Amino acid sequence: MEKVDYLIVGGGISGLSFAARLPSGADYLIVEAEEELGGYCRTVRCGGFTWDYSGHFFHFRRAEIETYLRERMDGEEILRVERKSAIHYADRLIDFPFQKNIHQLPKAEFIEALYDLYFREPNEESNFYEMLISRFGRAIAEKFLIPYNEKLYATDLRRLDRDAMGRFFPHADLDEIVRNFREPDASGYNQTFTYPRGGAIRYVEALARDLDSTRILKGEPVIAIDLERSTAQTEERTFQFKRLISSMPLDRLYEIASIPYNRELYQANEVEVFNLGFDRKGPEAIHWIYYPNPTEIFYRVGFYDNIFGDDRMSLYVEIGRRRQQTPEDWRGTLDKILNDLSRVGIVQEHELIAHHRVVLSPAYVHINQAVIRDSKEKRAALGRNGVHSIGRYGAWTYCSIEDNIIEAFELADRLSADV
Ligand SMILES: Cc1cc2nc3c(=O)[nH]c(=O)nc-3n(C[C@H](O)[C@H](O)[C@H](O)COP(=O)(O)OP(=O)(O)OC[C@H]3O[C@@H](n4cnc5c(N)ncnc54)[C@H](O)[C@@H]3O)c2cc1C
Repeated sequence: MEKVDYLIVGGGISGLSFAARLPSGADYLIVEAEEELGGYCRTVRCGGFTWDYSGHFFHFRRAEIETYLRERMDGEEILRVERKSAIHYADRLIDFPFQKNIHQLPKAEFIEALYDLYFREPNEESNFYEMLISRFGRAIAEKFLIPYNEKLYATDLRRLDRDAMGRFFPHADLDEIVRNFREPDASGYNQTFTYPRGGAIRYVEALARDLDSTRILKGEPVIAIDLERSTAQTEERTFQFKRLISSMPLDRLYEIASIPYNRELYQANEVEVFNLGFDRKGPEAIHWIYYPNPTEIFYRVGFYDNIFGDDRMSLYVEIGRRRQQTPEDWRGTLDKILNDLSRVGIVQEHELIAHHRVVLSPAYVHINQAVIRDSKEKRAALGRNGVHSIGRYGAWTYCSIEDNIIEAFELADRLSADV
């Protein structure tokens, strides 16, 4: 049996950040299931195109986190981009966020949306659906906010907490909405974003740069954890740990650590991502478009070429589904995507010359009060056994990579101070 102080399960942003923050000389080992580090922040290069596993763009709120990463990215060009995003609605593009741009709707619909907004009756907000109607009125909610989010989350929004999207939901009150008719204000949490020319993987490489490569095992999933004995097992070996830091999905951790749990509580969607490279340029001056209408299979299409300033259209196309519902027949899905892209006018004379596909599962977890309570209790109990479940899926939450880095750094500081 191999002994280690910190066994880090998962070499994505969270696991790497934890290892990077440990004091020098700390005894750690990262065990990553895949052959490559990075988790959901991996990047693929194909046919001269650079694609992430899904559109990953960065908006750091803490300057010291961005500085920390940049100091470890010698020579990497970081693009800083003013976001231009829109919603495909009634055969036109409306600026995002929808609720602040209702004046761009056809006149009758604008009047309806404004009327419902003005005379809305603030109501109990016991779930996400009710929050949308209560704050924005029925028309804005039913035209965009409900269909779009149901398409993304692949669930009834009554099953989600009113704050399921936390700070990522673009709230706006009546004053802000009306003011925006005259003085457009596109501010939001990601009004400008950064993106490394080499893709999201560059941030992963920055976090891994100072790590000891002999302390990283790849292609070796942890398959069982014994909480009483503080051991973890892969197909190849067993480790005895003092602390285990896991960023695998929390429900998967329960399974391999034999912790009984209510599966019904741990719901999530999965996102099937198609990255598509074409032989010529497509629409310009737009970074991504949201599609609330059920006739289009995708909920969002993004344009890497307009971020990089390239002359060939390079898209990511995202489809939301219930977990484990993605069909095997991805070629059928690709045909449908190409048809829909052509119907909405993105693909015209274009020839598809490269493609890549990945399924992110889970992608957006379904947050409600019951799962918040349950996961908090279980994670606290795990912590008492020296097992710390962190990260977007380890904490069963909605967050950014910056949040993951901060959480992992804070945990590393706390645990190393305890030794
Ligand atoms: C569609 C989508 C778009 C996003 N866009 C953005 C964005 O624009 N900006 C942003 O900041 N964030 C974005 N995010 C969030 C971001 O991807 C995550 O916050 C971040 O990647 C989470 O990192 P993590 O290390 O916590 O988890 P992961 O990336 O999931 O890493 C976990 C690692 O654990 C490994 N693992 C799992 N099980 C085992 C096991 N049994 N044994 C060993 N290893 C295991 C996995 O292989 C993986 O490498 C997006 C997420 C999604 C789904």
